[in-house]
Parts: sequence; C-alpha cells; structure tokens
Amino acid sequence: MSMKKPALRIGIVGGGIASVALALDLSRRSQLEVKLFESAPAFGEVGAGVSFGANAVRAIAGLGIGEPYLQTADRTPAPWDDVWFEWRRGVDAGYLSASFAPGVGQSSVHRADFLNTLASRLPNNVPVFNKRAQQVEQTGSATSVTFSDGSVYECDLLIAADGIKSSIRPHVLNSIGAEVVAPRFSATCAYRGLIDSQLLRDANRAQGVDEHLIDVPQMYLGLDAHILTFPVKQGRIINVVAFVSDRSTATPVWPSDKPWVNSADQKVMLKAFADWGDAPRILLECIASPTYWALHDLAELPGYVHGRVALIGDAAHAMLSHQGQVQGRAWRMPGCSGNLLGDSQMLDTDPAAVLKVYDEARRPRACRLQRAPPGRRENSMKCVTLW
Ligand SMILES: Cc1cc2nc3c(=O)[nH]c(=O)nc-3n(C[C@H](O)[C@H](O)[C@H](O)COP(=O)(O)OP(=O)(O)OC[C@H]3O[C@@H](n4cnc5c(N)ncnc54)[C@H](O)[C@@H]3O)c2cc1C
Repeated sequence: MSMKKPALRIGIVGGGIASVALALDLSRRSQLEVKLFESAPAFGEVGAGVSFGANAVRAIAGLGIGEPYLQTADRTPAPWDDVWFEWRRGVDAGYLSASFAPGVGQSSVHRADFLNTLASRLPNNVPVFNKRAQQVEQTGSATSVTFSDGSVYECDLLIAADGIKSSIRPHVLNSIGAEVVAPRFSATCAYRGLIDSQLLRDANRAQGVDEHLIDVPQMYLGLDAHILTFPVKQGRIINVVAFVSDRSTATPVWPSDKPWVNSADQKVMLKAFADWGDAPRILLECIASPTYWALHDLAELPGYVHGRVALIGDAAHAMLSHQGQVQGRAWRMPGCSGNLLGDSQMLDTDPAAVLKVYDEARRPRACRLQRAPPGRRENSMKCVTLW
C-alpha cells in the first residue's frame, strides 16, 4: 500500500509584491503547502509607481504572472518603445542620452494595483494577516516561527521577505557566525508624488514645455540631485521621484527617532530644485503633497541562508532604489526557488538544498551590485551601466 507523502510546508514572512508572487507560484504546486504571514491587517503597498528592467520583466513572465503584469503595466509608447529612460540636464531639459531596453522599454506599474491583482489570485487559505514574526528556531528538520501574538507556526522551509528591517535576518546571521547588520542611511532622500497626467499636460502646454517629456520616461540630472518620471495607470498618472543627496559628511546618520517616510512641504521641495529649468519645476509644482523618504540600504551579507531559513528581497540585499531595480531583484528568488521547489527529486532528497542553491546562485550577483563604489550607490546615472 502506497502512503501519500505529506506536503512540504513552506512559510513566507512578509506580504510585499515579490513574496505574494512567490506564494502564488508555489501554491500551484500540489506537493507544497504554503502560508504567507503579513504583520499588517491586509496587503498594502504605497500608492506609487515601480519600474522594472527587461530582466525583471522576464523573471515576472517566468513566474507565470506575465499576463496579470501586462494587464496593469505601462510601457513606453511607439515610436519610443525601446526607450528605458531619456537622460536630460535638470537646468534646461537638454537631451543628453537615452538608455534602451529592446523589446521591453520602460515597464512600470502602480504598486498597489499590481499587488491587488496578484493577491486576488492567491488561494484564500494562503495569506494570514496580523502576524508579526518575532523569533525563529531551527531544531533538526523542524523550523518554527513565533509571532508577536504568541502563536507559533512550524514548517519545513521558511522564507523571510520582511523587508529591510527584517526580524529574521539576525537569526540567519547569528547562525552562520556573522555580525548582525543594521540598515544604513545613504545620505540621499527622495520626494515622491503622483500627478494627473492631464494636469501636467495642461501646465506644460501653458508654459510651452514639450509634452514628449510626459509620455516618455525621463531622468533629469543635476549636481547631487536627480528627478525621474514615468507613467503608470495606462498613462493617466505620472510617477515622480526627486532625489537629493547630501555629501557634507562621509558618515551620514538618520536620527533614530525620525520616521523614514514622512509628508513634506512642497515649498521646501521646490527650494531644493530652485535653480532647475521649467520642465522639472512644473513637475514639482504639480505635486501639492509630496512624501519624503530617507533612503537606506544594507551592507552585503555573507549569507542569505541558514539551514531551512532564507532571506529574500530587501531582507537580504536592500539597495538604493535605482541600483538595478531592487524590487526587480526580489523576483529572482521566486523564479529560482519556484523551479527548484517544483523538482520532486530535490525535495525528496534534501529540501534545504534548494535554499543553498538559491544562496549560491543569487548572492554573488547581488553582492557585486552592492559592492559598487559609493557614487554608484547614490546616483542612478552611474548605476544603469551595471545592468
Ligand atoms: C523611493 C523608492 C523608490 C523605489 N523604486 C523602485 C523601482 O522603481 N523599482 C524597483 O525595482 N525597486 C524600487 N524600490 C525598491 C523596492 O521598493 C524594494 O526593493 C521592495 O519593495 C522590497 O520588497 P520586499 O518584499 O523585500 O520588502 P517590502 O516591500 O518592504 O515588504 C515587506 C513586507 O513585510 C511586512 N513585514 C515587515 N516585518 C514583518 C514581520 N516581522 N512579520 C511579518 N511581516 C512583516 C511588511 O508589512 C511588508 O508588507 C524603490 C524604493 C524606494 C524607497
């Protein structure tokens, strides 16, 4: 008489876009029992755009979510289809160059829309909300995670996707004998906002600024500052991020009692770009209530995996937003492990080996990008060459 093998239990901690995609991919495999634990009462992403490079778009397709992605995604309109970003001087919007991603161009989505689309496809019994992971233990082949409400979940493999402030990273680092690392302030802050594209079009027309700058993704460059724009929501909204770097100190520190994300005063934002030209000024004037983000990253880690626990996404390799589209990189774990976890031979022999393969395959590349010199960590203009 043949006994049915129990499903391999996989716990995912964190409910960002990449972990929901991973849960979606894994929950299609009958040999796996998947649970995703999110600390918030529901899935939620900031209402902002996120842009992916060609490699991330391929990874998304590989996860079987290419179709919902394309339903929500914007891409550069013809005849500029292959343009990823145009690069311009902030002072007068003078054209400098363009980066191309043949066949993909600029691919971007509204974060909340895409997360909702993915989450709606997740089986109901996968996500569990109001579960803040606090502690992880591994004994023999059992792994358990304890939540702040005192409950405990036991699983065979645990994937920590709980962001840059990961509560599980210390467990992995301590277990491999490495020093626990804390996020570090990059000395770069970003103003963020979404603009109704018709409002921007009207403002551009009124002031004689080319509408091409609305439809095609732009990167305006200045000294220690840059502004990026790309459309989301089928061009109805323009996503704007305006970065300012303070290079007055070699060891920048963000006060521990100050939130990383806050609302900002439009006047202060406009002052930071006071000597820039009409096109970026009009953009910023259209953002009545910007938010202000203190950008942090992580030093490269000596390991993402210990035994049956793996770190993915920002928990493993938080980088500055342009350093090769960090969210984009988070897709690699889903792509990599989804295929490996679908391999019944591998599961039968040693499930933890899947995580080891992920660590060996993905960490060197992520670390190589993190190792980029400081100028590259802080300025997208220099970083694009890495991709
Ligand atoms: C201004 C800005 C612009 C950016 N633009 C881009 C871009 O255009 N393209 C790009 O690719 N990347 C971009 N990034 C980076 C990208 O946003 C991150 O890399 C990505 O969101 C990380 O995803 P994650 O799932 O690892 O973590 P998060 O998105 O941080 O998700 C972590 C989740 O875990 C939950 N959580 C946290 N702690 C616990 C716990 N203890 N227990 C349970 N749940 C927990 C949180 O509530 C959250 O839902 C940008 C970042 C910034 C700041």
